[in-house]
Amino acid sequence: MARAAASLKDYASKRAFKRTPEPSGKDARKGKAHRQPRFVIQKHAARSMHYDFRLEVDGVLVSWAVPKGPSLDPRDKRLAVRTEDHPLAYADFEGNIPEGEYGAGAVIVWDAGPYHNLMEDKDEPLSMREAVDKGHVEVWLEGRKLKGGYALVRMQRPRAKKDNWLLVKIDDETADKRRKPTRTKPESVLSGRTVEEVRSESAEA
Ligand code: MN
Repeated sequence: MARAAASLKDYASKRAFKRTPEPSGKDARKGKAHRQPRFVIQKHAARSMHYDFRLEVDGVLVSWAVPKGPSLDPRDKRLAVRTEDHPLAYADFEGNIPEGEYGAGAVIVWDAGPYHNLMEDKDEPLSMREAVDKGHVEVWLEGRKLKGGYALVRMQRPRAKKDNWLLVKIDDETADKRRKPTRTKPESVLSGRTVEEVRSESAEA
């Protein structure tokens, strides 16, 4: 797991674990790696609301921040900014990151479940790590809210400071131009709470 530990350096350097309730990832070695890898989408009411889209790859959660969240409509191209890898334990994190800390604001687990790497079924199969490095990921999600194919494609912007990708629904039998689960199903799949409820619970505490 040396590689996993190294890829979590950025994550650890941004956070003061005495002050934030987020997992330190120190127990990354003990983190449960699943035979079938997992994805999680966390809704995060930080300075601006966004959805953190994370895929388990080689013992860490490879992550993107998606301001508008996932769509079921293949015509929508959603900006997805690559962020630092997170520890596997983060997949269950729900709570409030205190004011003044990195990413301050409420977090809920908006959707989660196993996923399948669609790139390994192609003529020239790619592992998830290879697909991420190449900038073209295709996965089949088996979440509670999202089921079906999604692609993440890195944008070619040589001088851009940020690592910008696009999250796009693959045009398969699960595509749907009408349903908007980010609006109609705002609650956590872990606790049933909305991000607003999590935020107000901490204000009362
Ligand atoms: Mn976030």
